[in-house]
Amino acid sequence: MHYLPTRIIYGDKAVRNGFVYLNTLGKKALLVTGKNSARKCGAFDDVVNVLSGLKIEYVLFDCVCENPNLETVIQGAAIFKQNQCDFVIGIGGGSPIDAAKAIALTAANNLDIDHIYDTASFKKSYPIVAVPTTSGTGTEATQYSVLTDTALNKKAGFGHDLAFPALALVDPAYTLSLHRSVTLNTAIDALSHLLEGLYSNKRMPLLYPIIHRGVALIYQNLSLALDNLSEAKYRDALSQASLYGGITISHTSTTLQHSIGYPLTTAFNVPHGLANGIVMKQMLDLYYPYVKQELDDLFAYLGIDKNSFFAWLDSFEMRFEGALSQEFIDEKIPEVLASRNMANNPFSVSDKDIRSLFSSLI
Ligand code: NAP
Ligand code: FE
Repeated sequence: MHYLPTRIIYGDKAVRNGFVYLNTLGKKALLVTGKNSARKCGAFDDVVNVLSGLKIEYVLFDCVCENPNLETVIQGAAIFKQNQCDFVIGIGGGSPIDAAKAIALTAANNLDIDHIYDTASFKKSYPIVAVPTTSGTGTEATQYSVLTDTALNKKAGFGHDLAFPALALVDPAYTLSLHRSVTLNTAIDALSHLLEGLYSNKRMPLLYPIIHRGVALIYQNLSLALDNLSEAKYRDALSQASLYGGITISHTSTTLQHSIGYPLTTAFNVPHGLANGIVMKQMLDLYYPYVKQELDDLFAYLGIDKNSFFAWLDSFEMRFEGALSQEFIDEKIPEVLASRNMANNPFSVSDKDIRSLFSSLI
């Protein structure tokens, strides 16, 4: 089954070109952003200009930090309701957009902090608009929102069809202001989503052309983008790849690859994409016997073999800088095994698998 209810407008002036659809969503928007980058990259001004042309009012909620937490969602939902907003616009990387999704669902269903993940309580939502300013998560085309429960010190996502954005306005120009490290980490997140589209037991051949093209765009353009941060054509390639990654996981979900990364982010502040990247080779080796044909077909499409792919990954020198203890590993194994992504693996993941993945970082 192929299902993607998001209207996607991609390319130069995507926000301006989306005005016809923005006009149908209501009279007042809650704009959800992080602290600085939405303004810095020009997306905020573009959105505000279009809204004022359409006489749509807005309220700004610019309090979303990286890895948004449940308290932020509750705060945003309260502001949404106090101001009687009609829809949300998330402008930023995955963090503000995921927060915007959760705010819409929390406000629409009057959820308290203990029920934000309770998808059975999701009966309706407000329209969600996503304006991505990074090129990694693909959240503009997914039904997921990844949040951190600070009380449990745990990062986890929920997925529900009501969390698909109604509208995704994707202009790669916004990513021109990304620093080198965020460019790398977010591209590796997108790469991870694309590979997980092959690892997942929900993989589907209908998606393989998208996955192959997405991986090829990253393989051919990432180093060039990192050496030429202000070159639009490389930004365009990475934004497309990110979108393909989102479309992929909206169908296949993510896997152990993401579940391993979440504890590294909460405990050691490792950026999300990097957390995937530092175990990417180990993960590919683990999945290889189960999806050998699919991965070999991907390498054939790229015109390389698995070793060359690994050498290319090595060229980015992704490293884990923290100090992993055995206690940490013992504590996190049950958390990883209980994560909802475990249902998507083509084999039964064991304690030993997780221990050896974490141990590879010591
Ligand atoms: P992010 O956490 O949204 O942002 C990372 C940093 O980049 C922030 O400091 C942000 O600044 C800055 N930034 C964003 N856009 C910028 C721009 N155009 N120029 C300069 N700086 C910019 O990063 P992300 O990697 O996009 O999102 C990661 C989150 O998404 C994680 O929580 C991850 O788990 C989640 N995720 C969600 C999905 C999904 O399907 N829902 C999939 C994968 C990952 P500001 O704080 O000032 O904005
Ligand atoms: Fe991700």
